[in-house]
Amino acid sequence: MMFVLQKISNIYKAVLVRNLHLYNKSYVNGNWVSAACNKTFDVKNPADGSLVGTVPDMAVEDVQIALEKAYEAFHIWQEITAKERSLFLRKWYDLMVKNSEELANIMTLESGKPMIEARGEVAYGNSFIEWFSEEARRIDGEIIQSPVKTKQIILNKQPIGVAALITPWNFPHAMITRKAGAALAAGCSCVVKPAEDTPLTALALAELSREAGIPKGVFNVVTTSRSNAASVGKLFCESPLVAGISFTGSTQVGKCLYQQCASGVKRLGLELGGNAPFIVFCSADIDKAVQGAIASKFRNCGQTCVSANRFLIQENVYDIFVEKLKMAMKHIVLGNGLDPQVTAGPLINVSQVNKVQSIVQDALEKGAQVEAGGNPAIQHGELFYEPTLLTNVKENMLCYNEEIFGPVAPCISFKTEEEALKIANNTNRGLAGYFYSNDISQIFRVSRKLEVGMVGVNEGIISTAEAAFGGIKESGIGREGSRHGIDDFVYIKYMCLGNL
Ligand code: ADP
Repeated sequence: MMFVLQKISNIYKAVLVRNLHLYNKSYVNGNWVSAACNKTFDVKNPADGSLVGTVPDMAVEDVQIALEKAYEAFHIWQEITAKERSLFLRKWYDLMVKNSEELANIMTLESGKPMIEARGEVAYGNSFIEWFSEEARRIDGEIIQSPVKTKQIILNKQPIGVAALITPWNFPHAMITRKAGAALAAGCSCVVKPAEDTPLTALALAELSREAGIPKGVFNVVTTSRSNAASVGKLFCESPLVAGISFTGSTQVGKCLYQQCASGVKRLGLELGGNAPFIVFCSADIDKAVQGAIASKFRNCGQTCVSANRFLIQENVYDIFVEKLKMAMKHIVLGNGLDPQVTAGPLINVSQVNKVQSIVQDALEKGAQVEAGGNPAIQHGELFYEPTLLTNVKENMLCYNEEIFGPVAPCISFKTEEEALKIANNTNRGLAGYFYSNDISQIFRVSRKLEVGMVGVNEGIISTAEAAFGGIKESGIGREGSRHGIDDFVYIKYMCLGNL
């Protein structure tokens, strides 16, 4: 892949001048393909609405072919050695590293995230392929002590089959590699359905998989518009060719997939929404807490499932924290992500802007106070929203209860640790939670009592390939990354040797 970016009328407008064909086809069985009906849909840059690409709108019959090819490829891929699979993944990783800048550019164009964040995501996304290329060789079984002398008990891990991967737009690269890296390492083939807002990064990854020599049919990308997403999702859930599904996205769609998987008792990994508390206790280093708050809340414009959603601040440090956060927010620079000065891009689409706007409106109507922002930033474009700080936030407000997925920081004051935990845990979500404290007993106590799958202690950025990512309650099922990320894609086969 050598995507060359050419500067045209202004420095923020980039066009891809080579290998454009990669951008208008899906990738199935090693071939670039259109939808049978030839339907396509447009991919727009959320920063300015400009057209970035046009891709096939694959329908159920097209995706059925992809599943059949992936099923054929699975039988070849599972037979090669773990070492060979590891080497293929390593080659893919090396190509991702080599093409990092191009991948980041594509991502900024279709997702709007600033280049600095796109580069960060590319490094993060690449790291999953590196990690799973290493893990591929360590998917070991066990020999168990038998209770009977004449028997030998062996547990082997085998790949489940074809994995269908449905990914969101907020991390167009990493949400694919975190799943596909584990699936391919385990010996599964996969069919990826990327989000309709950001299919181009996925297609670029497909091209790199081709260049890495990954056999045809092992890694497939099918692009679908929003109108085909539900029927393709249903096919994944109901097709006997699919052994397991891994989904990252909204809780609503996750629940729908869970229901649909029931009839075939299909394996399902879910990474759904969060409602992360960010607690600042009075012993905390406030400057570090503010730094962590900025990173956790405003990265990707607040559009991550681990974004801090509710700031709970102990009463005696409340004013100083709010003041310092307000000051730090002044350094956020909104604009087109290709501008190197920009640190925050647009929201992904109109429905996100409307959602954020209605959450802020609701808070204001119920008595919240705006300390900063509070409005769409239309001077930058239709989808921009001002970094917003709300105080006087109360329990009956939407921002207190719902995942905001935007650059809005609601601050709530609390008196005691017990009260903070009660507020933090009073939600049916349980993905990430953060707290700042310098009291060692409190650190262990609160880490244990927070009802979440991941805890950042004196740290606002916790994601890494080496750690297990995932939630409890309605935030999901299973873990991604770490050695546990393989578990969704293998089953344990027990072998009993008798009459020894
Ligand atoms: P968001 O609202 O943030 O876009 P979604 O959960 O709707 O989050 O989307 C995440 C992914 O799920 C995208 O790839 C999208 O196309 C896909 N998707 C949306 N609806 C369905 C559905 N009913 N079944 C399967 N996938 C779906």
